[in-house]
Amino acid sequence: MSNTHVFHRHLHHTPPVAVSGKGVWIQDSSGKEYLDASGGAAVSCLGHAHPEVLAAMHAQIDRLAYAHTSFFTTEVAEELAAHLIEHGPAGMSHAYFVSGGSEGVEAALKMARQYFVETGQSQRSHFIARRQSYHGNTLGALSVGGNQWRREPFAPILIPATHVSPCYPYREQQAGETPEQYGQRLAQELDDAIQRLGTDKVIAFIAETVGGATAGVLTPVPGYFKAVREVCDRHGVLLILDEVMCGMGRTGSLHACEQEGVTPDLLVVAKGLGGGYQPIGAVLAQKRIVEAMSQGSGFFQHGHTYLGHPVACAAALAVQHVLQRENLVARVRQSGARLEALLGETLGGHPNVGDIRGRGLFWGVELVRDRASKTPFDPALKLHARIKKEAMARGLMVYPMGGTVDGRLGDHVLLAPPFIATEAEFGVIAQRLHAAI
Ligand code: PMP
Repeated sequence: MSNTHVFHRHLHHTPPVAVSGKGVWIQDSSGKEYLDASGGAAVSCLGHAHPEVLAAMHAQIDRLAYAHTSFFTTEVAEELAAHLIEHGPAGMSHAYFVSGGSEGVEAALKMARQYFVETGQSQRSHFIARRQSYHGNTLGALSVGGNQWRREPFAPILIPATHVSPCYPYREQQAGETPEQYGQRLAQELDDAIQRLGTDKVIAFIAETVGGATAGVLTPVPGYFKAVREVCDRHGVLLILDEVMCGMGRTGSLHACEQEGVTPDLLVVAKGLGGGYQPIGAVLAQKRIVEAMSQGSGFFQHGHTYLGHPVACAAALAVQHVLQRENLVARVRQSGARLEALLGETLGGHPNVGDIRGRGLFWGVELVRDRASKTPFDPALKLHARIKKEAMARGLMVYPMGGTVDGRLGDHVLLAPPFIATEAEFGVIAQRLHAAI
């Protein structure tokens, strides 16, 4: 057991003690510096200790640190919601605040279910999601998540969910199949699943627009989400997009779904929304969903003590203002192209790098034993964890995953550096990651 009273999830390992952060760097108690190439877990979009965000939080704490939402709303929550709706996908009318990604997914699942209860379709009781997905660790979010290893111990206490194939061209697009045909095939699989369950039985299909924490950044093929949207519409099934990891500018547009040309019914954002300065997330909801509840029971049967926390909203609002004023989402597109090129130059020829894929500043590197056959390493080697350890030894934070899904998916590392990272820092990332591998 680790020598600490904090219940670290890895009980045999006490991590280094982080003491300060500035820009893209974190310092530990020995004075060692780490380049935060993962933004924590795709969280720190502005890096650490951004003065404008800190000032906004301080000002809000001085004015009012907390007011329960059953008594009050606050100016800062109203302003943040208005900003998110103004810049959100078409047709959204309200932002429901939460304290993180799992809470956001949980709220979205319940919002979707309650929508059908309010509109006289309470027979709809089933969710469809994708294998190799991650939607959080609370029971509802875990139920829709498609990571076998995470689900297994809790399987008997999860809610009903059916899993279809993810969009994973590197491994699952067939020879001779165009990306468009592959996308159509996946949409047909969703259609078949809905028909099997009963076209009036399904509440929603939930998917990460760009897959993140389970299989090393899965970018959808062109047309896939449009075809999915059509299938959902045909059967009256809601589309919930989880952009907890890939959203808020990370892939080079404020919302990843903009690049797919689709509008979800519910959109979940978190992580980059508060940039790590405060725990905050939001569910953006289509007007007709909120209206149905408003005209029905008039009450969303859900809620948490800290929702819309004023300091969290102040931090998130400041992050959004910096993003906008400094045009950082456009910068993500430009510097993403540079990071892609550098990763290609440094890692592209490595015999164990099977695939480098991503969008904006959201990149995954998939490791294989053999490039031609795409054979993964033995999961027992825990290669991803060893690469993380080697990277940390070299002062580099990368987000590892893999080895545990169906025993066949292999190992990945995920890169999600702050949007302010410079070309020189990308060079450090590529070199240190190469050395770690
Ligand atoms: N959805 C996705 C796509 C995520 O990547 C995560 C976190 N990695 C979550 C939900 C859960 O978010 P949180 O850890 O803030 O509960």
